[in-house]
Amino acid sequence: MTPELDVAVVGAGVAGLTAAHELRRAGLTVRVYEEQPHVGGRMRSFRHDGYTVDTGAEQISSRGYRATWELLARLGVPLDDVPRIGASIAVRRGGRAHPGVAERRAVLTGAGLSPRARVDLARLLAWSARRRGAFDDDHPERTPLGTATVAEFAARYHRDLHDYLLQPLCGSFFGWDTSRSTAAPLISLLLAVGPTAGWRTYRDGMDLLARRLATGLDVVTGRTVHQVTADLDTARLHLEDEVVTARAAVLAVPAPVAARLHTTAAPEAAAYLSACTFTPALKVSCLLDRPLAPVCDRPLYVLLTPRVEDRVLSCVIADHVKHPQRAPAGKGLLTLMADARTLPDLLRAPHSEVVDRLTTAARRYVPELGTAGRQYFVHAHSHGLPEATAAALGLRARFMARGTCPVEYAGDWVMLRPSSEGAVRSGALAASRVLARLPRRAGRFAPQSQETTS
Ligand SMILES: Cc1cc2nc3c(=O)[nH]c(=O)nc-3n(C[C@H](O)[C@H](O)[C@H](O)COP(=O)(O)OP(=O)(O)OC[C@H]3O[C@@H](n4cnc5c(N)ncnc54)[C@H](O)[C@@H]3O)c2cc1C
Repeated sequence: MTPELDVAVVGAGVAGLTAAHELRRAGLTVRVYEEQPHVGGRMRSFRHDGYTVDTGAEQISSRGYRATWELLARLGVPLDDVPRIGASIAVRRGGRAHPGVAERRAVLTGAGLSPRARVDLARLLAWSARRRGAFDDDHPERTPLGTATVAEFAARYHRDLHDYLLQPLCGSFFGWDTSRSTAAPLISLLLAVGPTAGWRTYRDGMDLLARRLATGLDVVTGRTVHQVTADLDTARLHLEDEVVTARAAVLAVPAPVAARLHTTAAPEAAAYLSACTFTPALKVSCLLDRPLAPVCDRPLYVLLTPRVEDRVLSCVIADHVKHPQRAPAGKGLLTLMADARTLPDLLRAPHSEVVDRLTTAARRYVPELGTAGRQYFVHAHSHGLPEATAAALGLRARFMARGTCPVEYAGDWVMLRPSSEGAVRSGALAASRVLARLPRRAGRFAPQSQETTS
């Protein structure tokens, strides 16, 4: 029986949508199945009462997001739609905010580091600059750091570098535990994206890329795929009431979900999938009647709250500083990110209790929050970010060298890069692997004339 589709994609996050976009550009018939009623996955935004709320990802960077920028250019998204943030990131220490984290001048200003630690920061920067060529962000498994964890790497330097720089960055942006996640992907990523001065956000919400990709693709939302099976040349998606056949499937879902959906993966894929664990993430969006932000002598958009200072929060983000259109004029939008240690409790707690615990903790940094807060939204991600453990890093080379087959994978975890750029790169990679396997038949891959989006 001839398969219905050339390619069926599971998951309409940026990885799945990028894969579908590339495959459709190559003339294949592609359909994306998404269990949520909307596209975007962990890079979604919603609009409410004049506020634009980012439920997952917050920003991208001018540097280190090569595949994203190429895709945006192809989609015709102007640079103006991805403006520079322009405000600072600070770290909380000794009762106050120290701005300038991950800026070049931090070596001089300290950004919360003691004078002795600044010397070690200069050493760390010099060490990584000398080895820049050894850090390829497509191959974090090939760096001189091997499988050392972030905590082991940081132990070479003054304690402050762990406590007031690497732990707060890992904890807030990736939800990582520095004693579990490896340093190689972190250093590769920091070298690639460069100082915070180059960080940008999508003007209209972080879902811009997903929305633009989905326009012009056949995306079926609100449909859960329960199982994926395959023989030599056909993949089958088992949905509640139908089985969809395709010449290839791309599983663009977090690794633990992919492992559950497709239980007969080849050994090198199965091993990597089970090693690719995820950290959960939880954040609360606070819709404010005033534009409040953490107190600092410079405009801030992120206040990092290190573990040694705060047990509940990992950071506070002022979304209306990130971009003024995130909140109506004269109002504010704050995001409170939970520290990983509180997550097991919070993920089980009612939303009212989650809001209460996080806003109570945040009043240390934004004292008027209690009177300015109008409405709160909780966003919980059971698969928040790929952890990049030593086990995953150690197995990645074999996974990447595997042969092609009817079931391919996409997702940030494929690149061991906890960012949307990792997801975009993985989507393009999955598409190229599918195209390498499917024989091109004359006339078979004529561009599609019909487009549907649901
Ligand atoms: C709190 C947070 C903050 C972040 N901040 C940033 C940031 O500032 N910058 C940055 O670049 N990155 C950031 N990231 C990471 C970024 O959001 C992700 O790397 C990226 O969105 C992952 O995309 P993906 O397509 O791989 O996976 P996902 O977005 O998870 O997409 C997978 C999709 O598959 C669907 N799905 C799952 N199971 C099924 C099923 N059985 N059937 C059908 N569909 C299914 C899901 O609903 C989802 O839509 C952040 C992530 C989080 C959680």
